[in-house]
Amino acid sequence: MTDTADVVVIGGGVIGASAAYHLAEGGAGRVLLLERAGELGTGSTGACAGGFRHQFSSRVNILLSLASVPMITRFSEEHGLPLDVVQDGYLFLVRTNDAWRAFLAGVELQRSLGVEVEVLEPNQVGELLPGIALEGLVGATFGPKDGIADPSGLTNGYATLARRSGAEIRTGVEVQGVDTEGGRVTGVSTADGLISAGAVIDAAGPWASKVAATAGVDLPVEPIPRNVVVTGPFPGAPARRTLVIEAESTFYFHREGPGVLMGMGGRDEHASFDTRVDERFVADELLPTAVQSFPPLEAADLRFSWSGLYEMTPDRHPVIGEAPGVAGFYLANGFSGHGFQHGPIVGKLLAELIVDGAARSVDISSLGLGRFTSGHVVSEHHVV
Ligand SMILES: Cc1cc2nc3c(=O)[nH]c(=O)nc-3n(C[C@H](O)[C@H](O)[C@H](O)COP(=O)(O)OP(=O)(O)OC[C@H]3O[C@@H](n4cnc5c(N)ncnc54)[C@H](O)[C@@H]3O)c2cc1C
Repeated sequence: MTDTADVVVIGGGVIGASAAYHLAEGGAGRVLLLERAGELGTGSTGACAGGFRHQFSSRVNILLSLASVPMITRFSEEHGLPLDVVQDGYLFLVRTNDAWRAFLAGVELQRSLGVEVEVLEPNQVGELLPGIALEGLVGATFGPKDGIADPSGLTNGYATLARRSGAEIRTGVEVQGVDTEGGRVTGVSTADGLISAGAVIDAAGPWASKVAATAGVDLPVEPIPRNVVVTGPFPGAPARRTLVIEAESTFYFHREGPGVLMGMGGRDEHASFDTRVDERFVADELLPTAVQSFPPLEAADLRFSWSGLYEMTPDRHPVIGEAPGVAGFYLANGFSGHGFQHGPIVGKLLAELIVDGAARSVDISSLGLGRFTSGHVVSEHHVV
């Protein structure tokens, strides 16, 4: 069976859903999203903590946030669909002088681009979020316009909008390969047959490099498992839903229901598709750091835990753009822990690239795959 589409989107996470909507709405023609799972948002997006922030160290990430965050906070108002959004800010705690210098440089860059961000003394941190260990704290930065939103709500919201705009979404369909001929994309192969298309987007999250390899494209995106734990209620649980992050350890938490949701990067992380919870890491690394950083957690019991995959690039920046050497094959991968918040604008940028031939909303020329061979990489340092 052969099918045809103007654009095939591979993957139904937040990136694929946003892309499908913006393409269909932007006049890309017949847009077809293929997701191998039985429903959307079961990959990285389904494991995500839902945070959005403007506090990045690189110009391009700040610009992506400035464009994307309003698309999240105004989603319900603009589209008439429900989305849980809380703008209680992101609080970065910094405990070493070296990291503090880097954070102050970040604040300067963020402010120069119009971001609202405050520099706090330790006593102000104690007033904002009672319970945080203030000993050894050099300072903190607070972004009042940062916050948390519902990843599943945003993904399904974009899927609804995509369908309303004429896109087709098929679940339970795995793409086995991206087909090319003479240096350009011709479509995709699935177990149900071929689908011919003039443009194909790889939005396969942590599996993106496997998909890219079928088109002969070497994409440096690695799956890195990350564990998340949610507690029950405990005395001293924070009243506000501010996302608190300790810069050096990457330990983070925010209020979730009557308790908190928390996570952290591991000391010896390595690439793997294994999403079983790492109980040793939780017991030996996460919980001791959690109690040290926010002592009221000592009294908390653990209710739920899960593990999901970050999709990491070497410089912690995404790859967005047409794959070099394969015309019509577009990459939107490697968001390195912040793809949820950039999903809205990335979908729009993909539509601009495919429909208009150039990304207009944000200058993403630095995010092409070619940077890894040309050596023009710019690292993001504020990775959580
Ligand atoms: C624990 C955790 C916490 C996080 N916290 C945050 C946060 O606070 N803020 C933030 O911005 N980001 C966060 N992230 C990162 C964010 O979740 C990801 O960057 C984002 O969800 C990536 O979306 P995606 O659509 O590219 O990938 P995914 O959501 O993984 O979607 C890819 C989809 O492609 C499908 N697929 C793969 N291969 C094929 C194939 N061959 N054929 C068909 N379908 C295929 C998969 O089934 C999957 O559904 C977090 C991630 C984790 C794991």
